[in-house]
Amino acid sequence: MLVKDRAKTQAGSSLVDAFMAEVRERNTHEEEFLQAVEEVAASLSGVLERHPEFQSGKVLQRVVEPERVIQFRVPWVDDFGEVHVNRGFRVEFNSAIGPYKGGLRFHPSVNLSILKFLGFEQIFKNALTTLPIGGGKGGSDFDPKGRSDNEVMRFCQSFMTELFRHIGPDTDVPAGDIGVGGREIGFLFGQYKRLANEFTGVLTGKSYGWGGSLIRPEATGYGTVYFAAAMLEAVGKSLEGKRCLVSGSGNVAQFTCEKLLDLGATPISVSDSGGFVHDPDGIDRDKLKWIMDLKNVRRGRIKEYADQFKGATYTAADASSGSNPLWGVDADAAFPCATQNEINRTDAEHLIGNKVGLVVEGANMPTLPQAQDLLIESGVLFGPAKAANAGGVAVSALEMTQNSMRYQWTREEVDDKLKSIMRSIHQQSADAADQYGSPGNYAVGANVAGFLKVANAMMDQGVV
Ligand code: NDP
Repeated sequence: MLVKDRAKTQAGSSLVDAFMAEVRERNTHEEEFLQAVEEVAASLSGVLERHPEFQSGKVLQRVVEPERVIQFRVPWVDDFGEVHVNRGFRVEFNSAIGPYKGGLRFHPSVNLSILKFLGFEQIFKNALTTLPIGGGKGGSDFDPKGRSDNEVMRFCQSFMTELFRHIGPDTDVPAGDIGVGGREIGFLFGQYKRLANEFTGVLTGKSYGWGGSLIRPEATGYGTVYFAAAMLEAVGKSLEGKRCLVSGSGNVAQFTCEKLLDLGATPISVSDSGGFVHDPDGIDRDKLKWIMDLKNVRRGRIKEYADQFKGATYTAADASSGSNPLWGVDADAAFPCATQNEINRTDAEHLIGNKVGLVVEGANMPTLPQAQDLLIESGVLFGPAKAANAGGVAVSALEMTQNSMRYQWTREEVDDKLKSIMRSIHQQSADAADQYGSPGNYAVGANVAGFLKVANAMMDQGVV
């Protein structure tokens, strides 16, 4: 690198440092949000150097401030007549390139910091899809686990009774996330329709029979694997024959496993918050069908897999252990698909020690920053969430298009579009990494490419 360029990068870095100090001061205690902002900002020193207009337009300072945060009370009554009160949120983060778009998460851990991190990530992920969608996220600290269908319905109806006045097909279009699947989207949509008196594409992830898109349930997992295949293809390799660790056993994990099988790879693990199962014989299609029934219909625990299939072992989660033994299992590739901060530095060391050559994020921010740096420095191909798992929101945007047209595409049509979107995200990320001096670093590439699109739109629209 030329001395003058090095000086420029240093100047960019000090701009980023000053910016981060300001963000930390204004958002003390929002750990997950600060982690997400820092991860993006660390990639942007070169961009700020080349675009002084972003500095004077205070684009970075504006993009970390949500356009609107809505918080509301969600009271509901359980099957025994007891009243419960949960918190509902919607973070409408950025609408520079389209209506706010992003999922709803129902999980006891939900708080404003987690939703701000997810909403912030969503802005750049959505920009990478090339489709006209802004970024948002929402949810509640409600725990659907162990609740009856009627309780979940009453909760969803109460949640939507407030949310409905803030959303709309051209304003904000929520979807699912952890704890919000087809059942919850149905209850939420029913209540919206009743309150707004209109049948409109206000939520995505709907059932096919009433406005959903084919391939939407599969899209995040399929897209993650398409992205992984593109990364391997770029270095003359393929997924064929690879033994893959998968964490989680929900929507993203299930369809990651399915597409891995389609492409000749073998998933050998799945998990839930209780622990993980390792199946050295591989999770084949019949076993995957059994997992889908366990998780989506019977709503059971993954522990039961080890009782059902000989040769599989179950390891209970141990929060005090400092690392997750799942990432110490011998394999060729890893697909974290459960939740944020699943892979720490020790886990990354185990993956590297076992010569795992590919880590692709199906979940949002599953890899801690130090672990991510270590993997990339060690030459592991690393697919960051905002690029790799963008297939879900991309097909959500295709669902919005189909709703506007009052038309539904075939399975093949949607899958072809998903494949070409994932290829385009891969190319944009690779090109931006090259142009900004980090060839092969998809984390930097995705941050830069996503940010540039949003920043340019914000500049065009003035100080708003
Ligand atoms: P689901 O609710 O369908 O599944 C989540 C899975 O992760 C479950 O197996 C769950 O186990 C496990 N899990 C959740 N929280 C924890 C935790 N704290 N510790 C360990 N395991 C946990 O969610 P999705 O599959 O939809 O989402 C998974 C990830 O993918 C999330 O990060 C989400 O933001 C991301 N994502 C999802 C998209 C989608 O289209 N659905 C789109 C893009 C990203 P348990 O049942 O025990 O809770």
